[in-house]
Amino acid sequence: MMGLQKANAIATSSIAADEKRGMTMGFFEDLSATVNRGLDDASRMADNAGAKFKLAEAKRRRREAMADYGESMFEAYSQEPTFAQGREELIAAVAKIDEEIAAIQAKIDENERRTAEKKTVLSCPTCGATLAEGVNFCSNCGTAIAYEPPAEPAQPVEPQQPAQPQQPAATVDFEVVDNPETQA
Ligand SMILES: [Zn+2]
Repeated sequence: MMGLQKANAIATSSIAADEKRGMTMGFFEDLSATVNRGLDDASRMADNAGAKFKLAEAKRRRREAMADYGESMFEAYSQEPTFAQGREELIAAVAKIDEEIAAIQAKIDENERRTAEKKTVLSCPTCGATLAEGVNFCSNCGTAIAYEPPAEPAQPVEPQQPAQPQQPAATVDFEVVDNPETQA
């Protein structure tokens, strides 16, 4: 009997709890909605971060495409007077940068050429033994190995400007002297 009473008591309290829960349901719904909205915010922010990354990436690709486009336009029309008009500074700037690129590239090429040359396997001029890379003496006969400086590139060598002797600046003093004798 005691068990049934206890069960009833539990059932009653459970109903009471349900009723109480019913009274507070609005609060829980609000909280639940808040939590759901929070989750939405988090996933929306994550989605937005992804979208922003994609946007930056797409903009970067657009800039590259525009650079290619501009370059092709430049190649095609920079010699046209109508195109060049108003773009003189831009065209001059590009020409200057092109010169710079050519000079840097030439330096790189020259360095690589010299490096490749030094790596060339030589043979001893005395005994003909194959020499290891960069050795100063033949390991077979001891002949000193002189490395010839690499041949100058086939570019025309710029004539050296003769040193201009420092000329004193010609100074001419114009001094108007009033000659009182001629004014008489
Ligand atoms: Zn040798």
